[in-house]
Amino acid sequence: MRFLSVFIMLFLALGFCNAQRDFSDVRIKTEKITDHLYKLEGSGGNILIFSGVDGIFMIDSQFAPLTEKIKNAISEIQKGPIKYLMNTHYHGDHTGGNENIGKDGTMIIAHDNVYQRLSQGATKLSAGREIPPAPKEALPVVSFSEDLKLHLNGEDIHAFHVAHAHTDGDVIIYFPASNVMHMGDTFFKDRFPYIDLNSGGSVNGLLKAIGQVLLVIDDETKIVPGHGSMANKEDLEMYQKTIMTIRDRVNRSIRSGLELEEIKAANITKEFESWGTGFISADRFIDTIYKDLTKD
Ligand SMILES: [Zn+2]
Repeated sequence: MRFLSVFIMLFLALGFCNAQRDFSDVRIKTEKITDHLYKLEGSGGNILIFSGVDGIFMIDSQFAPLTEKIKNAISEIQKGPIKYLMNTHYHGDHTGGNENIGKDGTMIIAHDNVYQRLSQGATKLSAGREIPPAPKEALPVVSFSEDLKLHLNGEDIHAFHVAHAHTDGDVIIYFPASNVMHMGDTFFKDRFPYIDLNSGGSVNGLLKAIGQVLLVIDDETKIVPGHGSMANKEDLEMYQKTIMTIRDRVNRSIRSGLELEEIKAANITKEFESWGTGFISADRFIDTIYKDLTKD
């Protein structure tokens, strides 16, 4: 019983630290991709800004304490209000600034399941804490199930849903005229993926999403990953190959009767060592694939 209460206290303390995280040192780094598209890096998911005569279109909002800094960085690109904000998925490092931005009258757009998860709240099982329902201002005003086109600043932007990939509400946003694609967290360059099984993500759905993108892009396409630096088709092909290779090895190991711990000990990720140095270690990636493939 004592151990249990210590455990619970530790959990609460960790949750508290997370909520009180200090963002004062975070700087927003702006990277010009084309004359009208800019990638903003701070803390959390990569933001993409599309500027032009019809107004500012923004993809993802990082964390709430960063909103003022982000708005300052955007005003360096173009003055005036942010007209539209689209979320790639519901995770807090991509939607945390929604409320602040929504209060300014910005129209928020996202997949139906992002609306569901934000409006109802969720239990983030991996972190062991409850996420309360988001306030009205943080919620999408427009949500969609399959795809959506926006016609502004002289381009036809295509946002399309990929089912059960990183979560169950992922949207990938393509700017065909600029040949730029924002993949949200369906893509981490040179890193093992984070697949949020508790929020409807799946390994095979993620691979399907990557396959869909590869059908559309060419060697010149500039890809914005959810986190990390700009990427191209070759990087995405490498990512696809890595995930497929390890999925197939885990699958074969399961079929030959190995237990999870035996699979982890079998060194099946040996040639991808550098891929596990970030947020998702090799063991955690194997855990996810194992759990996903054995869930039925
Ligand atoms: Zn995410």
